[in-house]
Order: sequence, then C-alpha cells, then structure tokens
Amino acid sequence: MNASIITVGDEILIGQIVDTNSSYLAAGLNAAGVKIHRIYSISDHEQSITDTLDEAIQSSDIIVITGGLGPTNDDITKKTLTRFFGGKLVEDPGTLSLLEKIVASRGVKLSSRNRAQALVPDNCEVLPNHFGTAPGMLFRREGKWIVSLPGVPYEMESLFTKEFLPRLKKETELPVRLNQTICIAGIAESALADRLKNWEESLSSEVKVAYLPSPGLLRLRISVSGDNYDHLNEKLNNLTEEASNIIGHRKVFGFGQETLETVIGSLLVSKNRTLATAESCTGGYISKLITSVPGSSRYFRGGVVAYNNEIKTKFLGVGTDALEKHGAVSREVVEQMAKGACRELNSDYAVATSGIAGPDGGTPEKPVGTVWVAVASPHRTIAIKFQLGEFRDRNIIRASLNALNLLRIEIIEDPENK
Ligand code: ATP
Ligand code: MG
Repeated sequence: MNASIITVGDEILIGQIVDTNSSYLAAGLNAAGVKIHRIYSISDHEQSITDTLDEAIQSSDIIVITGGLGPTNDDITKKTLTRFFGGKLVEDPGTLSLLEKIVASRGVKLSSRNRAQALVPDNCEVLPNHFGTAPGMLFRREGKWIVSLPGVPYEMESLFTKEFLPRLKKETELPVRLNQTICIAGIAESALADRLKNWEESLSSEVKVAYLPSPGLLRLRISVSGDNYDHLNEKLNNLTEEASNIIGHRKVFGFGQETLETVIGSLLVSKNRTLATAESCTGGYISKLITSVPGSSRYFRGGVVAYNNEIKTKFLGVGTDALEKHGAVSREVVEQMAKGACRELNSDYAVATSGIAGPDGGTPEKPVGTVWVAVASPHRTIAIKFQLGEFRDRNIIRASLNALNLLRIEIIEDPENK
C-alpha cells in the first residue's frame, strides 16, 4: 500500500510554522510498511483541498490530511471534506460528550463555537480526540482510506497511533518493515560511506541504508522489509552487527534513540565513577547535555565554565606560565583544566574544552574552529586538537560532542574499569 500526506494551513506556506506533522506521519506510515508516494502542503482554501484530494486519490491507497479542523473561520477542511464526499454535517453525541468533558476540565462552559466541533459528516467514522476539540474523521471509499486529523501535533499523533493505525493494521495485510539506527560520532559522512562501500554493495535489494548527519553526529539507518517478522529481525540484527564492526567501537556509541550523554551516564553508573567538566569555548554546553539525562546527579559532580584565563587559574589551577607560553587554546592548558577539574571537583573523570568558536578571535596559527579537548581519567590525561568549521553554534555543538565521545572512549578503554 502507498500513501499521500496532505498538510493544510496557510501558516505553513508563509513559513510561520514548520510542518513537522508530515515527517511524523511519514515515519509512522513507513514503520507500518506503507510507502509514501507524495507529501503536499497546501493552503486553507477549498479549491486547493479538493484539487489535491482528487490527485492523491488517483495515486494512493491511504491519504492522511492534517490541519484546518479548528472552530475558527479560517479552518475549512471539515466543510470541504463533507461536500467532497457528498455528506451533511450532523451533531455526533459521542463527540459532544467528549467536548463537554474537555471544556469542563479547562474550567469553562461549552460555547456555541466549540459546540460546532461536534458536527461531523454523516458519512465518516469518527475518531475520538481526547486532547482537543476536533475529532478525526475516517472516510472509506472503494478500498481507499482517507483520514482527516487535527493540525495540533500531539492531538494528531495520538489520533494517528491510537485510532487510525490500529484500524489499518487490523484490516489490511501490511508488509513487515523493520529498521535499526546506529549512532556514530567522530567520522564524517563521506569517510563513513567509503568505509562501508564494499559492505553496502553486498546488500540485497530489500535492505536500505540511509545516512542521517547532524552537527557532530551521524546516524546510519538500516531498514529491511519482507513478510516474516522473525526472519527479518534476525537479518537486521546481523546487518547491524556487521556494519558496527566495520565502523568500529570508537565511533559507534549506541543504537536507536541513544545519545552520547545517555550512554556516558549508563557507563558511569555501571562503573560507579564520577564526572566533572571544565569548559571554556563550549560555555557549559557539555554540562547541559550531561544534566539533561534524568538521574545524572548520581555521577555528575559539577563543572566550571572557565571562560576567562583568570578563572582557569583561580578555580582549576591552570599555571600562568602555561597560559603565557602556549596560550589558552593549547594542549598544555586544556590538560591542566581537565586535571584541575578532577582535583578541585573531586571527580574520577573530567572533560575540558578550550578553543576558538568564532566568528572572531582566529589567528593564522589558530584559526576559527581550532578546539582542544582533554579528558582526565584516574590513570591518564589525554588531549586532542580538532579543526572545526567557521560557524559558532555548530562549533560549540561539535566540540561538545567530540569531547563526549573522547570521554566515552576513555571510560570504556580505561584499564582500571575492566
Ligand atoms: P485547532 O483546533 O487548534 O485550530 P486545527 O486542526 O484547525 O486545530 P490548525 O489550525 O491547522 O489545526 O493548526 C493548529 C496549530 O497546530 C497550528 O497553529 C500549528 O501550531 C500546529 N500545526 C498545524 N499544522 C501543523 C503541521 N503540519 N506541522 C506542525 N504543526 C502544525
Ligand atoms: Mg485552526
């Protein structure tokens, strides 16, 4: 089966909001084994909606429409669909009682405008919305599934996964499609593609590989499709292991939704170790990532944002001679920062950064994007220089993720942890 997605809303077409509904629906439909034929974003305009529906119905078995179901005059999807499928609007008692419950929980009375949300076409199946006023509407025509969902993302997501997908799965034979994501740090997309070239060429046609880069990270998604779940699951596990072995454990940090900070958190908990940070150019971004993980207080001691040299000396014990001789962006200083953080914050490990995030401050010897990262562990301190790019925000993210990956490698390769 294949599907088209139609997102309705003038606000998308003027760039006021980003259409995240399409990507959510495309991912959900793909995971269910439905191929996406096309994604449309169109205005709140009757002719646009009917023209697009006419086209989509020709090409697709499933059409998911989001947006334009609100009680305001600009929302015309419901009216248009009612006319399109030749029905009339009637009050749905189920929707009305749900509406009364929702407005009561918000401490207000049901207005006539909101009551109109209980009007639904008499020729659709109503999908109850527990989080908002607009119900979903499912039209079944000649084997095709046309469903209209509200635009508000969490309402749409709940209706799609809890109401629409179960009906679709129950009544149709969808192929099994499974995927796994390998989370990778410390290698560029093109270098990874070179490394995986032979392996990729050996894959059969029902295996798909996608590279998903973001600053400092790379995700490799492997998808397999077929009809036997157990067989596919085993195949996917084998492929994931093969690819991970080729990429190497220093670069593969996790799978699925894992992040460097969650992986590091689990490692520190399992080894009963603590962490501190000493950040200059990353300005606390590493600490922010670490503390975004619930339970990080078990291992994170704290950090010093040592932006100024005086702070590096006063709070981390960095020598003034090292600062004068080598400058703040140097191996010597970043190593002293990491050791100082372990000592002053009484931690087993520390990660330190010092660099030139840009756009100013570069010199011919140390251009913008030069970043030194150090990790101090109980048995040694190491430092690596990275040459990043020219954009400040990306440099801060990349420096932080490179530092976290170095920390991860130091923890797993620490002889005292084995
Ligand atoms: P409401 O009852 O809130 O009016 P609705 O079904 O009419 O719901 P819209 O008016 O189209 O939906 O959108 C409501 C809000 O939902 C928008 O302001 C926007 O923030 C969000 N939204 C709508 N469509 C999308 C989309 N495609 N991607 C992400 N967010 C969206
Ligand atoms: Mg609206």
